Amino acid sequence: MNDKAIDRVLIAGAGPTGMVAARYLAGEGIPVTVLEASTELQKDLRASTFHPPTLEMLERFGAAQYCIDQGLICPLWQFRDRQQGPIATFDLGLLADITPYPYRVQCEQWRLNGFLREELKQFPHAEIRYGCRTQRVKQDNNSVTLTIDTDDGEEDIQGRYLIGSDGAASGVRKSLGIEFEGMTIPEAYLTLSTPFDFQQVLDDLADVAYLSDPKEWVVLLRTKSVWRVLVPTSADTTDEQITNAAQVQQRLQSVYPRDTDYEVVHRTAYRVHERVAKQYVKGRVFLAGDAAHINNPLGGMGMNGSIHDAMNLCEKLTAIWKDPSIPLDTMTRYERQRRKVAIDTVQAQALRNRQILNETDQSKRQAYYDDLKAIVGDNERHRQYLLRSSMIQSLRDLEDVQ
Ligand SMILES: Cc1cc2nc3c(=O)[nH]c(=O)nc-3n(C[C@H](O)[C@H](O)[C@H](O)COP(=O)(O)OP(=O)(O)OC[C@H]3O[C@@H](n4cnc5c(N)ncnc54)[C@H](O)[C@@H]3O)c2cc1C
Repeated sequence: MNDKAIDRVLIAGAGPTGMVAARYLAGEGIPVTVLEASTELQKDLRASTFHPPTLEMLERFGAAQYCIDQGLICPLWQFRDRQQGPIATFDLGLLADITPYPYRVQCEQWRLNGFLREELKQFPHAEIRYGCRTQRVKQDNNSVTLTIDTDDGEEDIQGRYLIGSDGAASGVRKSLGIEFEGMTIPEAYLTLSTPFDFQQVLDDLADVAYLSDPKEWVVLLRTKSVWRVLVPTSADTTDEQITNAAQVQQRLQSVYPRDTDYEVVHRTAYRVHERVAKQYVKGRVFLAGDAAHINNPLGGMGMNGSIHDAMNLCEKLTAIWKDPSIPLDTMTRYERQRRKVAIDTVQAQALRNRQILNETDQSKRQAYYDDLKAIVGDNERHRQYLLRSSMIQSLRDLEDVQ
């Protein structure tokens, strides 16, 4: 085998995970080839929340300031009841002593992808190939061979390592036969955006709000140009039915009734799963981001956790790339650390948020509300809650995982 041909890291997928990994490794002087199935930058409506530690990580690439400039700084977020109004408003400003970013930044994830794509151009040893769909993975003691599907047919491409960051339906994960354990959530989500300003009509509405209701919960998130609206819907309906124009108007009218139709900028039906891959590391291949774990979006942890994976993985991979005496199996610490976060933090918090929003029993809902009110009423508990919900605690806990 030609050593030069394998002297690079292959990265499947140019989403936030793959692009952060590519930028990290390229910045360390490590050659990277990113293989992306689509032919252009996708501008679809997905994650839009950047938590404080993610911004700290992105600072390394100049991307934190870019997201701030393109996005909206939101120190406050809240739980509300659709009838009663605000229940508990959390203030990330309480963490100003431990992070330079004591707020969430609301900025669409595709903007970060676009920024990193431009950034990669400065590195002659970094390339992105579009229209390349990962099919099969083989590996031996020195290299990984990835078979990709292109317009010109199948092609084998080699590297020293492979990062599988090709999203929830990861071809890399499937090819390795790694189980994606978990469940499918029994409802689908409809995500919409509109320029209508809900703060003009809903009292004391924070820029990020989770509205509980026994019949239909709602999440309202403000970005620089639009309000995003997330509502649950029956999983038995097709995507076309869920995003049908009349249906979309009805859902928005139920959030706040108006005499006129809402202007709708985006609408997407979104099927939600709670799954974590049984293995993140198999020899020279590493899974990260949605390829390794997916969860409901309530808490805005999916993309954030994915970026945290990429940073953790690349730090370790850089160490073994630069010092061949470090054994490959030190990479399994990446799996132990990040798999634990996926289960104990991301999944647990997203499920708990869903439970609060979905609760139909009046006395149980009241108990959740009382607890949330008590938390924000007590400075120390408020702070502890923020440390967990902003994912700072999950990063601190990693040190204990050997
Ligand atoms: C419709 C939708 C809405 C969402 N909304 C929210 C939200 O509101 N809040 C939240 O926190 N999270 C949300 N998420 C989740 C969030 O977008 C993901 O956690 C985040 O994108 C993970 O980044 P990633 O890079 O791991 O995966 P992705 O962003 O999925 O990127 C994977 C990349 O790999 C490419 N790819 C796929 N298959 C192949 C293949 N076989 N070969 C090569 N390339 C391939 C894809 O084209 C894509 O560019 C949403 C996800 C979806 C699908």
